[in-house]
Amino acid sequence: MINTVLGEIKKDDLKVTSAHEHVFIDMRKCVDITGEEKESFFKPFDVRNRNEVFSDPYAILDNALLSGIDDAVYELEDFALAGGNTIVDCTLDEIGRDPLAMREISKKTGVNIILGCGHYYHKAHFSYVKKASVESLADEMRKDIFVGICDTGIKSGVIGEIGTSATVTDDEKKVLKAAGIVGAESNFGVHVHTDLYTENGFLVADILQNEGVRANKICIDHVDVLLRPDYIKKLLKRGVFVEFDNFGKEFYLSESRRFAYDLERIKLLKELISEGYENQILISNDICLKSMWKTFGGNGYGHILRGVKFMATENGIEEQTYMKMLTVNPAEFLES
Ligand SMILES: [Zn+2]
Repeated sequence: MINTVLGEIKKDDLKVTSAHEHVFIDMRKCVDITGEEKESFFKPFDVRNRNEVFSDPYAILDNALLSGIDDAVYELEDFALAGGNTIVDCTLDEIGRDPLAMREISKKTGVNIILGCGHYYHKAHFSYVKKASVESLADEMRKDIFVGICDTGIKSGVIGEIGTSATVTDDEKKVLKAAGIVGAESNFGVHVHTDLYTENGFLVADILQNEGVRANKICIDHVDVLLRPDYIKKLLKRGVFVEFDNFGKEFYLSESRRFAYDLERIKLLKELISEGYENQILISNDICLKSMWKTFGGNGYGHILRGVKFMATENGIEEQTYMKMLTVNPAEFLES
């Protein structure tokens, strides 16, 4: 059974699942403000200024905020129209987790929503995380999973996305250890946000596995920004899930900090599938920006079921294999 915002559901009822999204999120505190910003940085995001975020998603601060029940309902109804059934919402308290809003949105749209627990990366941490013990951080996650978040009675169905920075900080290691303890106890899947340009997946897997988490309950997120086939294959050989979760994000911050394009992601996916790794890959859009919502001119949560799916099948990935990564694989990861 798997916890959703409307209660437990069976593994078979997950159906088409995007394993890592954000319905609401507030990442504004994680955006660097240098004082050199253009005037447009402080303006509300609008379809008419979305060109500003073509290369840098944070060229407009407001792009880092997803909120509003009516807009979210529209976006998830669109996901359902594209054939989607379940969204894993990896937003944590420090970046705007909102269980009651998610319950309302799930009721209105019929889309299952699964919530996470734990703490994001260092920059986002609440100040109490620094002084908290591993055991108290584990207790927080236990409560979210087995009792409910705050006094809502709504239970988390996944751990994470636990955040790690380019250099994994002591506080992040503490949170990871706590996630490992609760992950081993509960057999819940553990999502870990890894820095986009480093290879911290090994360290993350070491910490979680040391606490007893099974490899197939660990998902190393964001491996598809800078495509490193050797890194990804080494992770896969350990038995963990890797997640191609940036479909729709093709930003070009600089030559060394560019995001891979969707077509490049598909070509690497095809290579991984041909080498027998199709059971260990999850696919999503990790929507965390206004520019990705259809309301603001983006492709929406259905992107992986429309344009990306088309690109995959055009490039020789069997439809059945592609859909397996959106049905069977997330169910295996999420089932406790
Ligand atoms: Zn995320």
